[in-house]
Amino acid sequence: MSRFISQRFTNLEAYVPGEQPQDKRYIKLNTNESPFPPSPEVFAAINAQEVEKLNLYPDPEGRVLRQRLAQFYGVGMENVFLANGSDELLNFFFMAFCDESRPAAFPAVSYGFYPVYASLYGLPHDAVPLREGFVLDPADYCAIGKNIVIANPNAPTGRALGVEDIEKIVRTNPDHVVLIDEAYINFGGESCIPLTGKYKNLLVCQTFSKFRSLAGGRLGYAIGDSGLIQDLEKIRYSTNSYNINRLTMAAGIAAIDSNDYYEKNGRIIQENRAYTISELDKLGFETLPSQANFIFTRSPRIPGGTLYRSLKARGVLVRHWDKPDIADWCRVTIGARNEMEIFLEKIREILEEAK
Ligand SMILES: *Cc1c(COP(=O)(O)O)cnc(C)c1O
Repeated sequence: MSRFISQRFTNLEAYVPGEQPQDKRYIKLNTNESPFPPSPEVFAAINAQEVEKLNLYPDPEGRVLRQRLAQFYGVGMENVFLANGSDELLNFFFMAFCDESRPAAFPAVSYGFYPVYASLYGLPHDAVPLREGFVLDPADYCAIGKNIVIANPNAPTGRALGVEDIEKIVRTNPDHVVLIDEAYINFGGESCIPLTGKYKNLLVCQTFSKFRSLAGGRLGYAIGDSGLIQDLEKIRYSTNSYNINRLTMAAGIAAIDSNDYYEKNGRIIQENRAYTISELDKLGFETLPSQANFIFTRSPRIPGGTLYRSLKARGVLVRHWDKPDIADWCRVTIGARNEMEIFLEKIREILEEAK
């Protein structure tokens, strides 16, 4: 840090993304990417004609993509907001809706970016503890009187809430915005997008990064009441009106148009998840039930940090956090079948060595 950084940021602790090492090829089960390439339609959409137009700015309103998303979800175009990854959307959410008098509340064990954005804007925030077994109790958020951010399914636990539980939270906080981060909703959870027609204080955000194999394209979106969308637009136009680049816009449209391809991949991930959990069971691991493309698991014999390092030494990356309440655990992305077989093979080796 130089002596020139604004005082506002001297105590800011930045988000630390999962490692993306470039030194050798790892089996990457650490950042919840899809093991599958984008659909053939996406390859076709990123063509020479599209590259040729890179001298021109993209549509700042993203009309074609917003139209497609609106059709896909049965909402109006005025209910769709596009972001450069859902991370950007989260940033805009905190900027647009939170302040001293409207603090934010989110689960104490959840996506690590929530507290970072809250700190970035110097916002008071409330990290609400989870219950036994990392269970999120909706009662803890009812009438809490704060803006709320909940990842559903939650990360890194993989546990999901039902739509009725979310509705209870939204209904009992009518004067605050509730953001449901559905980054992993397509792997078994139930989306609350249908509720956005009924509640003016509900925003649902999703991403193309996980289920739609487009993490490198950076594309996310929110669905909600047009008033909330206009507020987000105000912030977007005050930050970067061309936040979605032309190639990503084309890729996003093609991805929505090839939904069957992704649905099929999603089913494979769910099968591989069930397989991985049952094999880990046999090895004595404890794994939380998951509705996401990752699992949260721990060995009764090997500490989480040791497991992470031993796997990395064997060419398999998983995610581990050195935080007291989750230090025993590792989050493992569900990849292709052969990747999960190699992961399990390495686990067996590590257990054998630890005997
Ligand atoms: C991955 C993830 C995001 C970020 O997704 P991008 O669209 O790639 O920025 C947001 N929320 C949660 C809970 C995530 O796990």
